[in-house]
Amino acid sequence: MFKTHSCGALRPQDAGKSVTLAGWVNLRRDFGGVIFIVLRDRGGLVQVVVSGVSPAEAQAAAAQARSEFVIQVEGTVRQRPADQVNPDWPTGEVEVEAHAVRILNTAKTPPFYIYDDSPVDETLRLKYRYLDLRRARLQRNIILRHEIVQFLRQALNARGFLEIETPYLFKSTPEGARDYLVPSRVHPGCFYALPQSPQQLKQLLMVAGYEKYYQIARCFRDEDLRGDRQPEFTQLDLEMSFVHRDDVLDLIEEIFTELLPAVTPQKHVPSPFPRLSYAEALENYGTDKPDLRFGMQLVDLTPVLDKSNFRVFSGTVASGGKIKGIVAPGCAGYTRREIDELTDIAKRGGARGLVTLAYTGGAVKGSAAKFLTEDEFAAIAETTGAAEGDLVCIVASDPKVVGASLSALRLTLRDRLDLVDPDMVAFAWVLDFPMFERNEEEQRWDATHHPFTMPSPNTYDEMVADPLAVLSDAYDLVCNGYEIASGSIRVHDPKIQSDIFRMLGYEEADAHARFGHMMEAFSYGAPPHGGIAPGIDRLVMILADETNIREVIAFPKTSQGTDLMAGAPAEVPAQQLKELHISIVEES
Ligand code: ASP
Repeated sequence: MFKTHSCGALRPQDAGKSVTLAGWVNLRRDFGGVIFIVLRDRGGLVQVVVSGVSPAEAQAAAAQARSEFVIQVEGTVRQRPADQVNPDWPTGEVEVEAHAVRILNTAKTPPFYIYDDSPVDETLRLKYRYLDLRRARLQRNIILRHEIVQFLRQALNARGFLEIETPYLFKSTPEGARDYLVPSRVHPGCFYALPQSPQQLKQLLMVAGYEKYYQIARCFRDEDLRGDRQPEFTQLDLEMSFVHRDDVLDLIEEIFTELLPAVTPQKHVPSPFPRLSYAEALENYGTDKPDLRFGMQLVDLTPVLDKSNFRVFSGTVASGGKIKGIVAPGCAGYTRREIDELTDIAKRGGARGLVTLAYTGGAVKGSAAKFLTEDEFAAIAETTGAAEGDLVCIVASDPKVVGASLSALRLTLRDRLDLVDPDMVAFAWVLDFPMFERNEEEQRWDATHHPFTMPSPNTYDEMVADPLAVLSDAYDLVCNGYEIASGSIRVHDPKIQSDIFRMLGYEEADAHARFGHMMEAFSYGAPPHGGIAPGIDRLVMILADETNIREVIAFPKTSQGTDLMAGAPAEVPAQQLKELHISIVEES
């Protein structure tokens, strides 16, 4: 190899050794007579000294070298004088006195500094992703990602799982998004769909008798993009036969509880993971992905305010709405502007307004305070636990709006009041989801998880009479306010599966064309089975203390779904379209 050691590996005990290093010039400082080069490779940084005693060629090459040149250095490791030790680097106690410096390749001046992590416009970072990947932050994230994936693989291998690949060129597997289609050249007018997940295939592997399967799987979903979404993303996809719900939950809980000390020992995970029903999550946090690192639960004030003379309250309850509040501790002194900001956040959640009550100086203040009685102030304080100095934020509206508004306010207050320990990783299970949700726009029922999910046995009979009452054997794992895994026990009975397809409005023939192979497979002895799919990108994002999954993906796409480095998507030559039997029609 071009090197005997990695730059980052050298330590005082290596003093006196002859080494050959190769890497990139991180920084070069010329003090006239002595040139210091900070040499960088994947393993870290080390200081190289080229002085008057170094051979003339070495001095000449060092003089020529610039940032990001690729060089090779031969030299002797020596201990740095005590006053020159750099305590920030693992190699800070040593340096390499160069005997030879060779330039292996030159480099243009990079568009941003590689040697520090100062903020750079993301567009530029994405265009020069290979340079951004050289910087410490992304390198740290990519290495952490590797460690997490390897840990998960080993944990599953040790528990008897088989890693099995499944095709990308497949048939539409609905997960609630649009499909990416791939035209077939050989079969004009026919398309493969890139899998939104390997859902069908992993179930077929259970029918095939593999019992425990996993895969680090790429999933493709054409949906509106957000900060934590990408058109293609990675899941740890797994499936097990002969399991009940708790077997899957226990497995994941055990592996994740072991994962964190192994890869991010500074983080701590409260265990066991709390288990909440979907209804409880909405009731107490207004969302099905609550951040449980802090309290501030939503408190139902409907029973104490339903008869209020304040029409906003009593009128809302009369028309079927709810009144709920949260307590912002120590915020009674909030200014008009701060209250307006909170009101805007509540409005973005759909609320018409926000009632705030500041418990301060033995009195209660707020724009709506004059409409409420002393008894009501006392009842609100008692129900919510608000004390002197606190601000109670109240929303009265339709239950969905109340939840969305107060949940958004809760997260805003979390950040403003610094309520969470950044090293806490709070997982929780959300269970007992409704099986169906109403799609008003298209006047039909959608599967809340996906159509292969088993309805909970005790609610299954309601399917036709009261679809909203049917719960499913689905589960989500949430973490710090993100949904990081979904899964379910599956239908393995072809009769139940066809009932569900019918509920979802698939005509018999359509269901057969799309999923006939599944129904057929289930008729050959499908074992009871279930699984889950933790999202690798989000998991790594949380453990890397990032807030966007782009920071933990080597080559991500922008929020518009484009690759700025290679320029994708792109037009293709007419000949290629012709071969694929595709003609582009301009929309008028
Ligand atoms: N296929 C599901 C998903 O991608 C996960 C599962 O049910 O295992 O969300």
